[in-house]
Amino acid sequence: MSEIIRSIRGMNDILPHETPYWQKIEQQLRELLASYGYQEIRFPIVEKTALFSRSIGEVTDIVEKEMYSFADRNGDGLTLRPEGTAGCLRAAIEHGLLQQSQRLWYLGPMFRHERPQKGRYRQFHQLGVETYGFSGPDIDAELILMTAKLWQQLGLSDNVSLQINSLGTVAAREAYKTILVQYYEGCFAQLDEDSQRRLQTNPLRILDSKNPAMQAINQAAPQLIDYLDASSQAAFTQLCHYLDQAGVNYQVTPSLVRGLDYYSQTVFEWVTTQLGAQGTICAGGRYDGLISQLGGKANAAMGFAIGIERLIALLKDSEASAISTQLDAYLVAVGEKAQQEAILFSENLRNKIPSFRLSTHCGGGSFKSQFKQADRSRARWALILGEQEVDNKTIGVKEMNTGQQVEVSWDQLPQYLQSQMDK
Ligand code: ATP
Ligand code: MG
Repeated sequence: MSEIIRSIRGMNDILPHETPYWQKIEQQLRELLASYGYQEIRFPIVEKTALFSRSIGEVTDIVEKEMYSFADRNGDGLTLRPEGTAGCLRAAIEHGLLQQSQRLWYLGPMFRHERPQKGRYRQFHQLGVETYGFSGPDIDAELILMTAKLWQQLGLSDNVSLQINSLGTVAAREAYKTILVQYYEGCFAQLDEDSQRRLQTNPLRILDSKNPAMQAINQAAPQLIDYLDASSQAAFTQLCHYLDQAGVNYQVTPSLVRGLDYYSQTVFEWVTTQLGAQGTICAGGRYDGLISQLGGKANAAMGFAIGIERLIALLKDSEASAISTQLDAYLVAVGEKAQQEAILFSENLRNKIPSFRLSTHCGGGSFKSQFKQADRSRARWALILGEQEVDNKTIGVKEMNTGQQVEVSWDQLPQYLQSQMDK
């Protein structure tokens, strides 16, 4: 026998018993986004590497060490998208979508070469939402309220909490950076290796360090929120006001700086304590500078991304996890005559009740073995078709839970099933 080829580390198969969670979340997301007037956009999984290095930033974790980059057969430098913001904006600029304001979303796989662990994979899925042409803070509030509504609909409101911060304008951030660098230089020897390196490349990211040994130093650091420019301060106050009025709880978190370079002003994260270290299930912020950085006409932009794997892990972990994918019926057909009838009979029944979930036994076999499969399918009913039933144009309908069985004529069957389902 040949050796089995396995999947790539950190890239998961989503098996049939898990897909119901995905389908539920995807459906809820679609409906929610439509109810706020957001439109779906789809763009390629592979882009030119330059798109990401120019937008995400050369010195970010993603671009420095996490991208799946390769030369294609023409020698062009390409990369599997590590996130969606850059590709979405590239498409919007390329197709002139920015002549109007836009509310967009997408859902799909992203790729980062990180160390795989619970909640952190090399292929993972994000729902991304991006808005263009709104300078906030009203849209900032809309995006946050929309996510709050999603948790509510999924029954997760008590499992997540909101952290917000403002990074100020790029100018205010630069001024703050100087002050921060001075502070860290004063305690350089106490910094961990990552932070020492980041002091040169991306000092704000030091604040984001997950290393417990860095916590005390970071807590004592000067806080960006005290160095905000007046307009960022006013926008942030207004955002807090919207959230207060809507009854959404939040925590102002000065250390929240996000890992990507392109953010300014509002940033936020929804976090949970239930998933261990990978507790952020949704993260986003304002990135007004990015459009011109990618060659478009300067304009406002704000968005967020939800990590679907983490959201599903949370759903499974919480009370809200009862997801039914039950079949309504499994059709058992015993004997040649019944087997010949079964496929068309089932087809007919599905035409009569389009919402009916019916699995038809294929491949023959004894009554006993077919019935075992009906049992295993966890369908509510077994529909039993034998030679006699075919002759009489009737069918046995067995309620699997109670074992009760009735004989119903073919004519009456749709009506009978429907009346039972409505009960
Ligand atoms: P983290 O700090 O957890 O690495 P990040 O700042 O790199 O997150 P973003 O790029 O903002 O994350 O992505 C948004 C969301 O996508 C995250 O909050 C998380 O839920 C999810 N996510 C990011 N990277 C991964 C990954 N490698 N595996 C699974 N989910 C991920
Ligand atoms: Mg990351």
